[in-house]
Amino acid sequence: MAQKIVAGNWKMNLKLDEAIRLVEVLKINHIESDVRVVLFPPSVYIDTLSHRLDDHIELGVQNFHAEAKGAYTGELAINQIKSVGANIGLIGHSERRAYFAETNDILKLKVDAAVSQEFQFIFCCGEPLMIREAGEELDFVKMQLEESLFHLSKDEMLDRIIAYEPVWAIGTGKTASAEQAESMHRAIRTWLHEKYDEETAQSVSLLYGGSCNHENARELFSCPNVDGGLIGVASLKSEVFCEIIKSY
Ligand code: PGA
Repeated sequence: MAQKIVAGNWKMNLKLDEAIRLVEVLKINHIESDVRVVLFPPSVYIDTLSHRLDDHIELGVQNFHAEAKGAYTGELAINQIKSVGANIGLIGHSERRAYFAETNDILKLKVDAAVSQEFQFIFCCGEPLMIREAGEELDFVKMQLEESLFHLSKDEMLDRIIAYEPVWAIGTGKTASAEQAESMHRAIRTWLHEKYDEETAQSVSLLYGGSCNHENARELFSCPNVDGGLIGVASLKSEVFCEIIKSY
């Protein structure tokens, strides 16, 4: 059974004092439930925030490097990230793909580094508007998964997390409809079944991301193949983010 997850991707937002205030309010308001809650703050805040959070909220990084160490100015290695209290990272967010030229080959290296160093990850995929308008979104997303993720063995794929985030819905206020989200998620589940088996397909959490907020979360989360959300702008306000968590 896939785990239910609500994750907040803060991107390059919030100053440290605002970040601390946000987690303090989350701690107070987050009603204990079986939903796994993960925050992806700017990496420089992880150490500080990790000392302020209880066990119910996890911390992750928005990016990491595939190499274990070395001359990579500005980058962070998995063991450095783990040493300050985070055990999960995003891979393949569309902003990393678009603005930092992260190709499917680079993402595959990150996937392999994470697997070999026992670092959890949320693998992001999703099509740009042009591809959706051409009706080619299924082929496009399948290729992203095949080129960066589906080389993993069955054991390595069990319990992984994939976030479907259509690029045209990210930060635009234009959410995918529940039907659009469900139809892509169903397709991903089917590919997992074909490539691996039913046990693997059912174990993978499929999150939706792209203008998900407290008004549409309930409908999106009620789709049979939507196991949670990766939330951007709506995770920056604690009361809104709490509402989303409670939408399950
Ligand atoms: P958004 O971002 O919720 O602001 O659209 C989602 C994401 O980029 O993960």
